[in-house]
Amino acid sequence: MADREDRAHLQLDDLYREVVLDHYRRPRGRQPLSHPSCSVEGFNPSCGDQIHVALTIDGDRVNELQVECRGCSISVASGSMMAEMVPGHDVAEVRRLIEAVKGMMQGKEPDPAVDLADLEALAGVRKFPVRVKCALLAWTTLEEALPGISGPA
Ligand code: ZN
Repeated sequence: MADREDRAHLQLDDLYREVVLDHYRRPRGRQPLSHPSCSVEGFNPSCGDQIHVALTIDGDRVNELQVECRGCSISVASGSMMAEMVPGHDVAEVRRLIEAVKGMMQGKEPDPAVDLADLEALAGVRKFPVRVKCALLAWTTLEEALPGISGPA
């Protein structure tokens, strides 16, 4: 396991927790959707991460989500976790989740009503400000893909 004498390794442990690596190696939700309601491309210039997010909306619920991310392990893992967590939730719930993820990355107190599940493994990323954008790329891209708050009634 970690080399306890090496502080840099301990920091890397924070950054690359086991669960993050698992999502990176086997990203969820890559399957293309046959009839997406909407798709959005995202780019994080500070790291070079690219992401494609597509979703199908049924009423006010996100039914399916496709996430295809090419980038560093943090961005890919965060997108994979998102693909696992979001489908089946109302748009309002998804917005709340996005806010919770952003809050976590800013070191805010967690919303007790939101279960961050595997995402908590990314909490250590906030110690590395440059990588926070990697962790948030999937979520800010999803936010763009969601129907507007003042959208069709
Ligand atoms: Zn990155």
